[in-house]
Amino acid sequence: MNEDDAGEAQYTPAEVDDIRRSYSGEHPPDCPRCGSRMTRRPIGGGSFGLGYARRREWLICPGCKRSALFDLKRGTRN
Ligand SMILES: [Zn+2]
Repeated sequence: MNEDDAGEAQYTPAEVDDIRRSYSGEHPPDCPRCGSRMTRRPIGGGSFGLGYARRREWLICPGCKRSALFDLKRGTRN
């Protein structure tokens, strides 16, 4: 196991949980691993059969290159 291996690094489930709790859906949280402000990348546009109330976003840390995928449920669209 090499935690510092670049490329395919993953957050631990606990870290993903931490990110999910602090993610408001508008402002990406800071990376729990290195403290960098994460960037988000929306995936899809409701064209994959899940409806508009459900969105999937990909949070990426520019610092340590880790990423996490989230399913976001939204009651409103904007
Ligand atoms: Zn990071």
